[in-house]
Amino acid sequence: MSAMDTLPPLRDVIATHGLAARKSLGQNFLLDLNLTAKIARQAGDLTECDVLEIGPGPGGLTRGLLSEGARHVLAIEKDRRCLPALAEIAEAYPGRLTVLEGDALRIDPLAHLTPPIRVAANLPYNVGTELLVRWLTPPEWPPFWQSLTLMFQREVAERIVAKPGSKAYGRLALLASWRCDTQIAMHLPPGAFTPPPKVSSAVVHLRALPEPRYPADAKRLEAVVARAFNQRRKMLRAALKGLAPDIEDRLIAAGIAPTDRAETVSLEQFCALTRTLEA
Ligand code: SAM
Repeated sequence: MSAMDTLPPLRDVIATHGLAARKSLGQNFLLDLNLTAKIARQAGDLTECDVLEIGPGPGGLTRGLLSEGARHVLAIEKDRRCLPALAEIAEAYPGRLTVLEGDALRIDPLAHLTPPIRVAANLPYNVGTELLVRWLTPPEWPPFWQSLTLMFQREVAERIVAKPGSKAYGRLALLASWRCDTQIAMHLPPGAFTPPPKVSSAVVHLRALPEPRYPADAKRLEAVVARAFNQRRKMLRAALKGLAPDIEDRLIAAGIAPTDRAETVSLEQFCALTRTLEA
């Protein structure tokens, strides 16, 4: 019998431990273990990896990650009501699951992880984007993780993989595509969750590139992109006026028409513009 078979179904776990979902913690649970195993498979071969999971809740995805062979899972959960359910999983997979209680925005997980590391999570919606931006903007590249496999509201997932010219294109797409390959790996309807959220969800897979796609200083690129999309309907010569007195010349030098708007400018052009601003 596999370890999975010795654990009770997730509906029973929720009833036994009184895990009524709390909206304030973004709790929409995945209870179908076939589905959580499928999500775990999107993260790639886990057998040689430590996996960082944020917000394991009653442990559906945690069980998927472990049954798919993760070498070790470090799970950070804010809701202490979930800890007994997670302790049962740790017992079923001896030495392979460590649970830290606390806020993932405040805990540095690195001391508990051994490379290679992958991140997989059905993220609490209220902290998901903030965590993603942190993971995409570390002080050094390559980052501590090889890949991120993350559940988001579909609209956020589309912003991460968006291409120039689309409504969803902006800061998230540029940050992500500068140093990662990105793709939507799965779509999930609201009914896949308990309780069902109002919107559809999607799993995004990001694979860290060894080096950025085009050279540019990270902080400056982030500042240029933030400013450009702050006023996304404005022409860039106006939106970026404060960056340099001769911004029109610098835009032209980067191959961008001063009358262009941020949403039509490619990553390569943003990187070129950032380099002209460094010069
Ligand atoms: N992974 C579980 C699943 O798929 O069924 C639960 C997903 S639920 C969308 C989000 C989980 O994140 C909840 O268990 C919630 O308690 C937890 N959570 C919310 N905010 C958190 C935070 N700041 N740090 C760590 N966990 C958090």
